[in-house]
Amino acid sequence: MPFASLGLSPALVHAAEKAGFVAPTPIQAGAIPAILQGADLLGAAQTGSGKTAAFALPLLQQLQQLQLSATQGPGGPRRVRALVLVPTRELAAQVGEVLRSLAQHLQQPLKVAIVFGGVSINPQMLGLRGGADVVVATPGRLLDLVDHNALRLSAVAHLVLDEADRLLDLGFTEELQRVLALLPAQRQNLFFSATFPAAVQALADGLLKNPVRVEVPHTPGNEPAIEQRSIAVDASRRTQLLRHLVKEHNWSRVLVFVATQYAAEHVAEKLYKAGIYASPFHGGLSQGARNQVLQEFKDERWQVVVTTDLAARGIDIAQLPAVVNYDLPRSAVDYVHRIGRTGRAGETGVAVSFVTADAEAHFRLIEKRQHLTIPREQIAGFEPTETAAPASVTDPQGTGGIKGKRPSKKDKLRAAAAAAGSAPDAHKKGP
Ligand code: AMP
Repeated sequence: MPFASLGLSPALVHAAEKAGFVAPTPIQAGAIPAILQGADLLGAAQTGSGKTAAFALPLLQQLQQLQLSATQGPGGPRRVRALVLVPTRELAAQVGEVLRSLAQHLQQPLKVAIVFGGVSINPQMLGLRGGADVVVATPGRLLDLVDHNALRLSAVAHLVLDEADRLLDLGFTEELQRVLALLPAQRQNLFFSATFPAAVQALADGLLKNPVRVEVPHTPGNEPAIEQRSIAVDASRRTQLLRHLVKEHNWSRVLVFVATQYAAEHVAEKLYKAGIYASPFHGGLSQGARNQVLQEFKDERWQVVVTTDLAARGIDIAQLPAVVNYDLPRSAVDYVHRIGRTGRAGETGVAVSFVTADAEAHFRLIEKRQHLTIPREQIAGFEPTETAAPASVTDPQGTGGIKGKRPSKKDKLRAAAAAAGSAPDAHKKGP
């Protein structure tokens, strides 16, 4: 089915072609005609499914059709016509860029403003002068801008919640409610989420009016081709094993997930000293530094980026052949998000998890929740020798480490003390 058959204007069909999209993905085929008809939409889809273009293309078309300049119409000069709320700064930048690059092909220019926290508010205030057709925002900074009277939300005709589950996970519930209270009652609502726990479903139920539902089921046909591997290894030998794998496979880019900002710095430094271009990426870096690392990773100036779960969602790096779980993710959901960074848009990818003796029970639970068995491999020269510490030290509840909620600071301190006393960590015995 070609893009033209979805009801898009020739300019936007051309924009999709220029972006390299040959045929619509399932979420695009389902969502675009419904959005163009003005319906509310409930999209159940992961990142990697093409969901950004699924809302960006019809949104731009509707804004274009109204043919109003940003300064006309209700709401005055600081009005916003479409609002896209996203959970993270990186996703704001990414979604904003997709909208801008598609909008380039329109006859009438449309203004797309991108706003997020962690950087100075002044340029964003200046950028909003005269209003904007689309604002892509994280909720906290959006409210700051409203408080500064830099924009008005009373004329928003289209609202997109992107990665709604992540917005709630990150604790944006209150901010979301404040934003929603500022919007006019009459508007189109587009709601995208990868998962639908009760709180997300309740938010969708409260927001959407007779939504068209588009679900992209997890069938082998549309599942990205990600080969999942797990390697049994001693905790103290993970950095060496990582070096070995990077060299052996000669991956052009590898995203390595670790548990802490400290580990991201430490592992990246060890790799760098061993002659591998590796950089850390985590929330402790300034926004400027984070943007730079991502850009340089995309430009292939870094071969390896060692990151916390900050990079687990939303981030789209085309042609990322490998993801390594140096430390296992806390939950099965995080596992899916991490490995979903590879194998995007029809490419193939490999996701390798390092499983230490202490993490074996935890990984088994992840496998169970995924309905998967990923046989433990052993790599010659890296055969494990450690056995698991008693459950009372590493996993007092015997849950394998999976809990319903994030660990408290106290939990983390306890775990760190236990790790320091029992299992040697990579930062003590590096390569
Ligand atoms: P998203 O799920 O929006 O993060 O998109 C994931 C990736 O798929 C991005 O790199 C897009 O450029 C790409 N993509 C989106 N739509 C298509 C399409 N119709 N054909 C091929 N690639 C696409």
